[in-house]
Amino acid sequence: MKVLVLNCGSSSIKYKLINMIDNSNVASGVMEKIGLKGSFLKHQNEGQEKIKLEGEVLDHQVGIEYIIGVMTDPKIGCIKSLDQIGAVGHRVVHGGEEFKGSVILNDEVIAQIENCIDLAPLHNPPNLKGIYAVSALMPDKPQVGVFDTAFHQTMPRHAYMYGIPKSLYNKYKVRRYGFHGTSHRYVSNRVCEFLGLDYNKTKTINCHLGNGSSICAIDSGQSVDTSMGFTPVEGLLMGTRAGDLDIGAVTYIMDKEKINTDAASTLFNKHSGLLGVSGISSDAREVEDAAYKEGNEDALLALKMFQYRIRKYIASYMAAMSGCDVITFTGGIGENSDIDREAICKDLEFMGIKIDKEKNKGLRGKEAIISTDDSPVTVCVIPTDEELTIAKQTIKLVEQL
Ligand code: AMP
Repeated sequence: MKVLVLNCGSSSIKYKLINMIDNSNVASGVMEKIGLKGSFLKHQNEGQEKIKLEGEVLDHQVGIEYIIGVMTDPKIGCIKSLDQIGAVGHRVVHGGEEFKGSVILNDEVIAQIENCIDLAPLHNPPNLKGIYAVSALMPDKPQVGVFDTAFHQTMPRHAYMYGIPKSLYNKYKVRRYGFHGTSHRYVSNRVCEFLGLDYNKTKTINCHLGNGSSICAIDSGQSVDTSMGFTPVEGLLMGTRAGDLDIGAVTYIMDKEKINTDAASTLFNKHSGLLGVSGISSDAREVEDAAYKEGNEDALLALKMFQYRIRKYIASYMAAMSGCDVITFTGGIGENSDIDREAICKDLEFMGIKIDKEKNKGLRGKEAIISTDDSPVTVCVIPTDEELTIAKQTIKLVEQL
């Protein structure tokens, strides 16, 4: 069976068609600028050249129709007909406290996801648009929702509650939810397979470092703490998000700059992080170039802050789990930046973390151990594969129908 995985953003649709017999990619692509001028699709059949197609795409339904048209096109497509797609798996960002795992999508579930819109007003509506579009275009295909938040629903209350009046949790469900759950689930599982460890007996700290970054402590297969919170803005310094910040500073800045909550949200989500501190870019590669090739002081500071905060989280999660067997790096930065990995793990021998500089150097996008043979904590790079995880969750549920 083939599973189509969809990740619908406000103006984009990322997709992957996966053959579940051997977990291989059949095709993948991204449609961008939906509803805007200059919409385009970049599509690639596995092992072939990427193609770019332009056309006006008004909404997600037209976008998905277009993608399906390309996939089934006799000349440039990858499947003969839609019959070859057995099911569709959707990335859904927020499942609130309703969803502790992936679910088959039916009217009742869709209504529950609609109820979570308040918690993720930027993310859940486009995710839902993808679901509505598939329901209209392929009503016979089973659909599954895989939530970014679900993996973290195992966190204990003392980890997910905030130090605010409990009535606010009761009224509005304000608490830590955590995100990147699909990636944290995949990487923590995969690293145990890779190292031959029992997932249910291993303590892992997974550092998902990309444009958005989060760390997760996984004890015996369960997320016990994670750095993103009620929204993805908490925790690490990210491409454009501030991460941890004194609430007093937030209200002070809002007063001084005379900005409302929308403007404050934009400031801390879109203009902060690596971009805000360096004044150069949100892209780690560009900040690294400015820091290490040009000696730009602000870029250096931004990277040091990024690395320092990750070190602090690693140490605190070691305390949270009373130790750690494995640390993993994933995401665009975690998989590719040997400089960041080395700086993050430097001088942590006292905690049992000994990096092998030679193994780490130049390693990009490949599964590998980067700690020394005698390091009590094994440090690994594991490229994430969120789409495969969504596809696996989808097939697991569809087979039970
Ligand atoms: P993601 O959000 O997981 O796609 O990751 C995107 C981030 O990974 C961007 O900040 C990129 O600059 C960063 N990245 C990709 N390749 C490298 C690299 N070779 N060195 C440093 N950062 C990289």
